[in-house]
Amino acid sequence: MRSHYCGELNASNISQEITLCGWVHRRRDHGGVIFLDIRDREGVTQVVFDPDRAESFALADSVRNEYVVKLTGLVRARPEGTTNPNMRTGEIEVLGTHLEILNAAQTPPFQLDEHQSVGEDVRLKNRFIDLRRPEIQQKMRFRSKVTSVLRRYLDGNGFLDIETPILTRATPEGARDYLVPSRTHQGSFFALPQSPQLFKQLLMVSGFDRYYQIAKCFRDEDLRADRQPEFTQIDIETSFMGEKDIMAMTEDMIVSLFKELMNVDLGAFPRMPYSEAMETYGSDKPDLRIPLTIVTVSDLMANVDFKVFSGPATDPKGRVAALKVPSGNALTRKQIDDYTKFVSIYGAKGLAYIKVNDKSNLEEGLQSPIVKFLPVEVRAALLDRLDAQDGDLIFFGADSAKVVNEALGALRCKLGDDLNLYTCKWAPLWVVDFPMFEETSDGGITAIHHPFTAPSCSPEDLKANPLTALSQAYDMVLNGTELGGGSIRIHQSSMQETVFELLNISKEEQQEKFGFLLDALKFGAPPHGGLAFGLDRLVMLMTGSSSIRDVIAFPKTQSATCLLTQAPGEVSEKQLKELNIRVRKPVVES
Ligand code: ASP
Repeated sequence: MRSHYCGELNASNISQEITLCGWVHRRRDHGGVIFLDIRDREGVTQVVFDPDRAESFALADSVRNEYVVKLTGLVRARPEGTTNPNMRTGEIEVLGTHLEILNAAQTPPFQLDEHQSVGEDVRLKNRFIDLRRPEIQQKMRFRSKVTSVLRRYLDGNGFLDIETPILTRATPEGARDYLVPSRTHQGSFFALPQSPQLFKQLLMVSGFDRYYQIAKCFRDEDLRADRQPEFTQIDIETSFMGEKDIMAMTEDMIVSLFKELMNVDLGAFPRMPYSEAMETYGSDKPDLRIPLTIVTVSDLMANVDFKVFSGPATDPKGRVAALKVPSGNALTRKQIDDYTKFVSIYGAKGLAYIKVNDKSNLEEGLQSPIVKFLPVEVRAALLDRLDAQDGDLIFFGADSAKVVNEALGALRCKLGDDLNLYTCKWAPLWVVDFPMFEETSDGGITAIHHPFTAPSCSPEDLKANPLTALSQAYDMVLNGTELGGGSIRIHQSSMQETVFELLNISKEEQQEKFGFLLDALKFGAPPHGGLAFGLDRLVMLMTGSSSIRDVIAFPKTQSATCLLTQAPGEVSEKQLKELNIRVRKPVVES
């Protein structure tokens, strides 16, 4: 229907007769002439209708925002003084000669340039309109470019794009499953995949050697900020490649992506052991743009006459740590109170601090409600360890190591953001040497990555020291966000059984849930490993978006609903009957 996209026209089209199709972005009546800004996915063009052509003029007068129109006209230079350098098509306009209304539109629930003044729920409910906004259109196009560049990279490196089932059995990644009842096997359920993990491993057993898929994954989690119940992974698996080879190749892929789409050189990614990340940054995904570090001071506090410090300092599971904020002395009482409130979200019971006013005067130069509990030698050793200078502020965390790491780790990022301490724009790294397992609150153990990750030791050593054993897992982190994670997998059934046993999965349950995997590992499974990148987060970071919902065409809300389609919804009695399902009254949470 069209000869050009609106956004495509420029001075080289002057004097051409063109036909455009699109939406009325804005209509202005300028004393006898009507201006229509017509929008399509490539941009906006200004079209002028004058009363000389009475029929099209009358139609132009009648259209309203978001009408769909087709028009023909002559491209001409804008009169002197009316060019718009901020617009791609700002040098030209179209003198409209013919106008056809393809479809009328009701007044939209919000105007495209008013999106900020309506709540996100209004935008999500009317997502088809929200998606017309040029800003979101740009993001969707960028996302499409990202997948196209990644596909090209993987295709060029011999990876095969292979689909895996959506209706399947549980694939444990640490979340709840979304279940789908079977009509033909009443009482039985499919699970939607939390990831294609087991299938991609089976593809390696089958000899495909290199696999990838842009895969939808489903996890029924209590949604924390910026998680979606369904999300997209760039899922990768390879055979006969070690940890280092897989990391090198996927790092090169991400480096190439940033270079090609953003002309950003990410450089070589440093590698950091998990233990160092937790100790120094309180996080397994440290944001290395922020120069603050967390320093253990448990040994200094073991004997002080202050239970809040000496307790955790002498508890094997406790930790006392300090976070120095250079020039932090300027923080006000109110700001410190706000940070105290902030760390309480992570379970911290308080936030002790010391302001270093004059470090040469250990008696009176330190300002703090707790300094009186610290002997002068401890004060001296503390300042020395932190290399504290006059004007600095020192925050403390004293609790279980878990609470201290989470609280100070989060505080570090918050201070970095609030005080704009960033030293660079992009800080990628690999976190490696993760432990295999961690303790659960009920005293059991659970896999840190997933139960198919290979340990760095023998089955005997693993059994002897499960909690200190390391795995061959690796995470790629960018600016404090986990971009992707993966591991070398267990490829021998005996090792897989050992891990299942340690996880307290009985032989029967192993057979019932993972019999097919254990069988496959017995029939010639090659050494293999891989990883998966979170596409939504990757695009969010690259586009500088503040939420993953901004880079997903039809996202769900924080409470896992789709406001547009009203999903999840009730189903008819007939459908329930076919499934032999009776719905109990919903449980009312107390
Ligand atoms: N399946 C893993 C995940 O979804 C990624 C991997 O190990 O390849 O996190």
